[in-house]
Amino acid sequence: MAPITVKKICCIGAGYVGGPTCAVIALKCPNIIVTIVDLNQARIDAWNSDNLPIYEPGLDEVVKARRGKNLFFSTDVDKAIAEADLIFVSVNTPTKKSGIGAGFAADLNYLQLATRRIAEVSTSSKIVVEKSTVPCRTAESMRTILEANSKPGCHFQILSNPEFLAEGTAIQDLFAPDRVLIGSLQTDEGLDACKALMSVYSNWVPTERILTVGLWSSELSKLAANAMLAQRISSVNALSAICEATGANIDEVAFAVGKDSRMGSKFLKASVGFGGSCFQKDILNLVYLSESLHLPEVAKYWRAVVEMNEYQKDRFAHKVVETLFNTITGKKIAILGWAFKKDTGDTRESPSISIANHFLSEKARVTLYDPQVTESQIWLDLTNYGEVPAEPIKPHVTICESAEEACKGAEAIVVCTEWDEFKTLDWEKIYKNCPRPAFVFDGRLMLDRKALQKIGFSVVTIGSGDRP
Ligand code: NAD
Repeated sequence: MAPITVKKICCIGAGYVGGPTCAVIALKCPNIIVTIVDLNQARIDAWNSDNLPIYEPGLDEVVKARRGKNLFFSTDVDKAIAEADLIFVSVNTPTKKSGIGAGFAADLNYLQLATRRIAEVSTSSKIVVEKSTVPCRTAESMRTILEANSKPGCHFQILSNPEFLAEGTAIQDLFAPDRVLIGSLQTDEGLDACKALMSVYSNWVPTERILTVGLWSSELSKLAANAMLAQRISSVNALSAICEATGANIDEVAFAVGKDSRMGSKFLKASVGFGGSCFQKDILNLVYLSESLHLPEVAKYWRAVVEMNEYQKDRFAHKVVETLFNTITGKKIAILGWAFKKDTGDTRESPSISIANHFLSEKARVTLYDPQVTESQIWLDLTNYGEVPAEPIKPHVTICESAEEACKGAEAIVVCTEWDEFKTLDWEKIYKNCPRPAFVFDGRLMLDRKALQKIGFSVVTIGSGDRP
């Protein structure tokens, strides 16, 4: 059979993954027309404006270089599907909120609706690529939906091509990925489809970094990668608690452990806990998968990673309260950072949200600052997307334009996100404007502790035995 040439790509879902991934494909493959579609009109309008809907270093340049040439953003989902020969499905797969598996299983409704639309609209054969993170064997249900709804003569090959980018470094990760993973059925048609997708990536990714495996291995690898990254964070955070109780220092322990070439030094930074839309959701997904496969001990093992993370967030919040002499009612506490990590405006599952809620539940006055998160997003997070009324907490929350403003008069300054700008704040000036004793809680182990102590602050960090 002649090799399949990819000329037109459609990406369903213009989010944190679909947008950057397909913008980079458009940049690296100028001969391929790439159309990114979404049902969310406001999101598409933003992609077509100077104010992109997501903040990601380097993204503006990539989009500006190709938009209107071979990169298009549209809400016309049907047209883009009909014209494409390869379709990425990059829709959200959040944790299910209700019904069987609620709180654990992935909600595959968006994925199934998109798949059904592909079948209904297509008048020619297509390659359908799972870009979303999905439970193992989801491709099987996609194939059933496609086959049951397709027109005569239309055939679909399904590939799994999970995305490993990290928010905050997405463009860098997409330009030079550690690996691109493509899973396919091991049939002639499946392998032909796999070669077609490989030909797209090989425009810039070295061949040895493009890994081809079976469909189910590919699906599971993505869950496994996120679970193991999160597990490392929970492991180091568990050790941080031991450090605090013994006088050891977690940075020193992590440094020593990370020098072991079998382990390496990455992802060994203790912190207030992990956040983001993926780690918790993907581990819970693995927990649900294990349970449904009647592997309760395996489920228990992975569940512990999430439980440790919850414990770390609570522990940090309690530490603030304890240090402030066990009461924070009416006290002003500044939270620096709302995004779940630096260099992104994404706040999904951000530790700041639960920490702020803890302070508010004890009636503290909370001031907040984040360089990339909008005020409306912070309110959405604080009210849990409108499910909790805003009125009772409104008088206790102030969202500020700068870190200095947030810290003014604060009895405690709590760093939750590792934004670089927090390192170079005018800490002397901030100290002058704080009541005494003035506490800094470094939830990211990012500040110069000695310099702050020299100014006069009492500094509390995660994983350090010496108390102020
Ligand atoms: P997102 O919520 O930012 O974007 C998903 C988009 O899909 C939304 O804009 C939504 O409106 C759109 N959508 C949903 N159903 C649709 C439909 N039927 N037709 C058209 N558009 C539709 O999500 P995201 O962060 O980009 O994540 C997408 C997937 O990638 C998820 O499965 C996630 O787990 C996975 N993933 C995310 C990351 C990350 O860092 N965010 C990294 C790797 C993998």
